[in-house]
Amino acid sequence: LSQQITVPSTKDEVAELALAFQRMMEKLNQSYQIQKRFSANAAHELRTPLAALQTQLEVFQMKPNREKEEYETLFQSVGESTERLSNLVKDLLTFTNEQTIERREPVELRDLIEEIRFELEDSAAERGIKIHISGQGVIIGDDRLLQRVFYNLLSNAIRYNTDGGTISVDISDSKVMVEDTGIGIPDEAKAHIFEAFFCVDKSRSRELGGSGLGLAVVKSIIEKHGGEIRIENNDPQGSRFVVTFH
Ligand code: ADP
Repeated sequence: LSQQITVPSTKDEVAELALAFQRMMEKLNQSYQIQKRFSANAAHELRTPLAALQTQLEVFQMKPNREKEEYETLFQSVGESTERLSNLVKDLLTFTNEQTIERREPVELRDLIEEIRFELEDSAAERGIKIHISGQGVIIGDDRLLQRVFYNLLSNAIRYNTDGGTISVDISDSKVMVEDTGIGIPDEAKAHIFEAFFCVDKSRSRELGGSGLGLAVVKSIIEKHGGEIRIENNDPQGSRFVVTFH
């Protein structure tokens, strides 16, 4: 607005202005298409667990009096769908509007990651997966957002691990390495892994309760803290995520 607008006087200036206008419209259209795709993907992801909940309840309505075991199975699958919805909504909120850093305080990375291990311990133990944490480090940041980063990285390291596998988290000052002995990430997928809704294997990711938003959220939060994240292969198998805060 502060720019002075001069009325074009020559043919060249009119052509230049028309070109600039056209470019602006293309950019607007591009970002509208991105938004539209994002909303369509989000609605699609929300629909899956909602449809599962609806079917589970309908099946029960058809014959309300059932055995105790049948109730237990129902509660378990309703619980899984609800958890999936809740994680998806959390990631959607973080991704769309809650990513602003609200506080900048010293965050003890070891304490923060130990808390997440505690939260995820049961799902790791169910599959015989061990989580080792070593080292120390303090960075200045928003602990609520940083919790989301390491929750998503660790829950992926569990979900895409093999039974009896290992996860190692190594903290050294402002650098954190999260490595697992799981299925690994194919080289051709590495360039896309941080895009919203990208999954290497959609049906597998769905089965494991994924939404394809986890790593997009991780990258965006890390960059808001002035850091970066990269993926490496973990020898002989699995993935390694290296997070560096500056
Ligand atoms: P999702 O909800 O599908 O897990 P993410 O954004 O967290 O979405 O991850 C995107 C994709 O990256 C996943 O679908 C999976 O294919 C792959 N991925 C993420 N973390 C790992 C990991 N530790 N090991 C192997 N593949 C992974």
